[in-house]
Amino acid sequence: MSALLSEQDLNDFISPGLACVKPTEVKKVNEEQTTEIEVGKEASELEKVSISLQDCLACAGCITSSEEILLSRQSHTVFVEAWKNLRDERQLAVSISPQSRISLADYYGLTLETLDLTLLNLFKVYFGCRYFVGTQMGRNLTISRSNQELISLKQQGELAKKPKLSAVCPGFVLYAEKTKPELVPYLLNVKSPQQITGSLLKMSSNEKLYHLSIMPCFDKKLEASRPDGEKEVDCVITPREVVTMLQELQIDINQYKSEDQALRKALSPLGWDPILHWSSNEGSSSGGFAYQYILEMYHLYPESALQVLEGKNSDLREYRLTDLANGQTIASATELYGFRNIQNMVRKLTQRSIRPRNPRLLKNRQATSSASTKPAIADPTNTDFIEVMACPGGCINGGGLLSKDSASNSTSNAVRKKAIIDHLNARYTQEMVNIDARTMGQEIDHRSTSHTLSYHYEFHPIDAQPSDVVSLGNTW
Ligand code: SF4
Ligand code: SF4
Repeated sequence: MSALLSEQDLNDFISPGLACVKPTEVKKVNEEQTTEIEVGKEASELEKVSISLQDCLACAGCITSSEEILLSRQSHTVFVEAWKNLRDERQLAVSISPQSRISLADYYGLTLETLDLTLLNLFKVYFGCRYFVGTQMGRNLTISRSNQELISLKQQGELAKKPKLSAVCPGFVLYAEKTKPELVPYLLNVKSPQQITGSLLKMSSNEKLYHLSIMPCFDKKLEASRPDGEKEVDCVITPREVVTMLQELQIDINQYKSEDQALRKALSPLGWDPILHWSSNEGSSSGGFAYQYILEMYHLYPESALQVLEGKNSDLREYRLTDLANGQTIASATELYGFRNIQNMVRKLTQRSIRPRNPRLLKNRQATSSASTKPAIADPTNTDFIEVMACPGGCINGGGLLSKDSASNSTSNAVRKKAIIDHLNARYTQEMVNIDARTMGQEIDHRSTSHTLSYHYEFHPIDAQPSDVVSLGNTW
């Protein structure tokens, strides 16, 4: 169990943006009242309540007892013990997500470039690391496999019946599996960049590898522990745990500062281009899966125009591709973040299963919107694909990330949180180098043996065990 976690972390984590569902439930006063929850309109003081597993959104503010056991196997202390015992039997391989790199760079006051090279140097010299990679190779495959599946479903007319929901956020996947079994058929079962990067790493070498993954949230530990994870990842730690680990080992990161670009190649597996796996792609800082689907469709329908529609709050954005000749919608996808938006989405999708949507009306959405004087706004549940992320602001706001504010232990609030997200997003846009993830994913599949692997999750509703009680306030 991580020594980093304290009650203060919990209070910070359950900010208005990530509050536990129970205190914010909207009571229906009369039949006419809307059941939609408006983000930002919650009461400032929430009452304490008791909560059952049925209520839980798996937002990672607290966890169940069985998850606690899984998480105790995934911490920086577990990693350090395992590393001491690796000897020559297994080599250490590390992967790191782009959001974790930005967060660590910001915390240490370094450019992203210097942070990358410093981490490479530190893990090579101190930990004897054999490979150290970014997760873009895995993300390229997540994007290209998702696009292939979405286009196939689109051609079969399936996306006109119901949208597909991305399954790269374990916070949301756990929520669906634990509390909303009716959502499981909506999940697009392509594995996340973390899991695919792990698979690629372990296939890339004849040596036995121990794979440490540095990720923006604690939920990624649960993702790595899934039975369909196939030992792709051995241990997940967050940037906050990286900082604590270095403090406990009395490592001064400044002593490992480096500008040596050769480190990128030296710690890349054979055949991995360091420029590619240390890069990012266009779209959101959570992976850009919605935007990349629309880019793929634009490639198939070049006589079309892309519209970006903002939603009712900053955690909703739709990309809509319309036919230049008749204004009809060709394809659409949404970024939808935060549990309140997820709750609204679930409500609409559940109503949808009673009243199926009309494909003809969907195509004409664009024409209807232009005839109206009101600007069109994002309409997530009527799109083909929804990039769902549990954290408000997406992965750049993961619970395991650091910021200068959290470093100074000051209290968080919604306005300051938003400012931090905007700041980290700005750094992400300025300092990450973008590549064409769609085509790179297809190329990786063509030139490697990875095309023989399905990279599919096997989703199933999880029954709550009577003893599997939520221990609210028990943090990790
Ligand atoms: S019970 Fe815990 S994990 Fe579940 S919604 Fe509330 S804070 Fe999140
Ligand atoms: S949205 Fe949050 S919980 Fe989901 S993968 Fe990203 S950081 Fe983790």
